[in-house]
Amino acid sequence: MLNRAVRNCRLTFPTSRYTLSALLAVVHHLAIRPDGVVDTVANRRSARFADLRCGPSLDRDSTPTDPTHSMNHDVVILGAGPGGYVAAIRAAQLGLSVGCVEKEKTLGGTCVRIGCIPSKALLESSDLYHEAKDGFARHGVLFESVRADLAAMQKRKDEVVKSNTSGVDYLFKKNKVARYLGHGRLAGPGKVVVEGAEKLEIAAKNVILATGSISTPLKGVEVDGDVVGTSTEALSWPAVPKHLVVIGAGAIGLEMGSVWLRLGAKVTVLEYADRILPGMDAEISAEAQKIFKKQGFMFQLGARVTGARKKGSGAVVTVDGKPDIECDRVRG
Ligand SMILES: Cc1cc2nc3c(=O)[nH]c(=O)nc-3n(C[C@H](O)[C@H](O)[C@H](O)COP(=O)(O)OP(=O)(O)OC[C@H]3O[C@@H](n4cnc5c(N)ncnc54)[C@H](O)[C@@H]3O)c2cc1C
Repeated sequence: MLNRAVRNCRLTFPTSRYTLSALLAVVHHLAIRPDGVVDTVANRRSARFADLRCGPSLDRDSTPTDPTHSMNHDVVILGAGPGGYVAAIRAAQLGLSVGCVEKEKTLGGTCVRIGCIPSKALLESSDLYHEAKDGFARHGVLFESVRADLAAMQKRKDEVVKSNTSGVDYLFKKNKVARYLGHGRLAGPGKVVVEGAEKLEIAAKNVILATGSISTPLKGVEVDGDVVGTSTEALSWPAVPKHLVVIGAGAIGLEMGSVWLRLGAKVTVLEYADRILPGMDAEISAEAQKIFKKQGFMFQLGARVTGARKKGSGAVVTVDGKPDIECDRVRG
């Protein structure tokens, strides 16, 4: 799944919808007609499946739960993240009638809305700032003064996300994937119930579950969505923390830490294992640790976090057998 998500990150990154279609077309050896329509072997073949294609033609004005939509599909997919939306588009390209149920208003799932895409957008902006501030001078490129406009960075990140979610939306419409807005659940063999603005029942010959995952809360860590947050909140903080504590030295924690470190925060990473990136090859994690330390990261390894909570306007993090850490933001 991770590999698939990586591939899709690459696919969804371009901001132009046409580019997105083009990339998908390249991947699937399709042809793009001059009008921008992806002309697949399957599309051409689809006339033969006309009797099966009960999926609606979604125009810009139709709502996802439009009662005129057909409630019968060859395939119904729960979840429109990288797992679900690629399956939906590909199945439709192969001539099947496809419905996709997504509970969020925008398509793309964690990766596009609150994961890979926004984090990479902020990584790029913060990297440019950091280079301009500390890197360019050694090349003899000097600025009078460099400052970060965080509101502008956040605005750009939101635009990148919007362009990518709209790209998926566009591909759904182009490929006639019927979209259902609401919480989907299996209600028996070949039956999916969608609970949204209204309750719908869809008949499906096949069902694909692509509902992704949610983060497991850490015992004692009181996420308040503000001072103590998850990566979702850390992607949208309106000000640079003075001292950020990141719990967990996995890829996402280090990514979030990098963004805020480059923008000026002091960053302490607490990791239970005896090395960072514990899921990776030991040699890679040792090299990565040297690089991150050089950048200014502070690591406490073998640190078992027993709690994190709001305290005054900041937070306090408790670690088994070690002194409490006072900070102003926690990425739990
Ligand atoms: C900050 C961050 C950065 C990341 N960076 C990377 C990266 O650089 N590279 C990488 O490979 N991965 C990255 N990831 C991980 C990546 O986002 C996930 O691996 C990927 O999104 C998983 O895709 P998915 O389709 O399985 O699930 P998701 O993207 O989670 O999609 C599941 C969808 O199903 C919907 N859903 C769930 N239940 C229901 C229901 N009952 N009814 C209707 N809809 C439902 C959800 O709303 C969601 O939209 C990152 C994650 C985060 C949080």
